[in-house]
Amino acid sequence: MQVFKFGGASVKDASSVKNVGEIIKNVGNKKTIVVISAMGKTTNKLEEIVKTYFYKNEDASSLINELKDFHLKIINELFEDKNHIVFSELENVFTEIEWAIEDEKTENYNYHYDQVVGLGEILATKIVHAYLNYVDVNSKWVDARGLIQTDNSYREGKVDYALSENLIKTQLNSDFESNTLIITQGFIGGTSENYTTTLGREGSDYTAALLAYFTNAERVIIWKDVSGVLNADPKYFKNTKKIDELTYHDAIELTYYGASVIHPKTIKPLQNKNIPLYVKSFLNPSEEGTVIRDSEKRVDVTSYIFKENQILISIQPKDFSFIAEDNLSEIFKTFSKYNAHANMIQNSAISFSVCLDFDEIKITPLVTELQNLFKVLYNHPVQLMTIRNYNDDIVSKLSEGKTIIIEQRTRNTHQMVLTE
Ligand code: ASP
Ligand code: MG
Repeated sequence: MQVFKFGGASVKDASSVKNVGEIIKNVGNKKTIVVISAMGKTTNKLEEIVKTYFYKNEDASSLINELKDFHLKIINELFEDKNHIVFSELENVFTEIEWAIEDEKTENYNYHYDQVVGLGEILATKIVHAYLNYVDVNSKWVDARGLIQTDNSYREGKVDYALSENLIKTQLNSDFESNTLIITQGFIGGTSENYTTTLGREGSDYTAALLAYFTNAERVIIWKDVSGVLNADPKYFKNTKKIDELTYHDAIELTYYGASVIHPKTIKPLQNKNIPLYVKSFLNPSEEGTVIRDSEKRVDVTSYIFKENQILISIQPKDFSFIAEDNLSEIFKTFSKYNAHANMIQNSAISFSVCLDFDEIKITPLVTELQNLFKVLYNHPVQLMTIRNYNDDIVSKLSEGKTIIIEQRTRNTHQMVLTE
């Protein structure tokens, strides 16, 4: 058994879908579960739709139409037969999106978010599944909401391992025996009441890891538009290097600091069962890529992780008392309530600073609640630069012309919060 994961960039248009079809035909048509994310930037678009309707109380229909046109263009190019069932399947999912939008507005924004945003993956898998069968690669479409069971922490569903394992066994065992190729969605799960949950942005990698864990797969391959795990994001850095092999430990650290190549939750299930993870290019499928597995070898190349659009929040007790355990526990409780993840933390006598991704919908209520108890200052936008295996030259070069607001170093890792 192996698990493949194809992200949004690998299915962003008709020719990309054809390329995915080729890869599956050549290396993945036996004993393979294929996990697919929403096409191109669909998830961002669906987020915008939810925000427009449920947050700004504005009409979202033109955004929905744009998203529909984007998908229609893809299927028009893929299927010559305009009576193909995929056209009505697409209509059906868009009807679902409209229903989810017309749903009575509740206080629970995250609930509405998941019901709408999760449908991006349904669209993508319906299309890829139909296309595979169209080119004679027989496959079965499976709804991940019936496999990955979560609690109702919307936008951050916590997976129930025992229940999910059971569901997967009972639903898929006969398919595994008959060697059926399975196509399913990344990123989404279902609650016991059959509502959709999402596992956090970019969560499809995590789905692939979970499915590998539950089926004791031999490997996971994440297909990307880069040649493997690079030592820096080519979007920000020239002359990046590919890392051939990483330990689980190195991989978990890189992703923890924000290297966007793999979702941070992906590594644990794989490490727990010692399943190797390959990151390969869908543009050059025969190239080696990167393998992440158990090994003695720690990487010593310098890696750079750059995060933009960060907010630095500084929290101070109103009465000039120290930041002590009771304050800290109050602060962390509030962070956890809003699912706000600190990318970097610094503590001083009367101030506690946290750097985190700026997400207006999360941050606004978080800051408001903290302001009840503390004086809260913030700095936005700032950048967070993390360097693993650093030296002083590298640090000074990267901070040239910028102001360092906070700096932290351990033996291997250097982090700084910067403004231009
Ligand atoms: N489509 C989702 C996202 O863009 C999940 C994923 O891509 O992994 O966040
Ligand atoms: Mg994506």
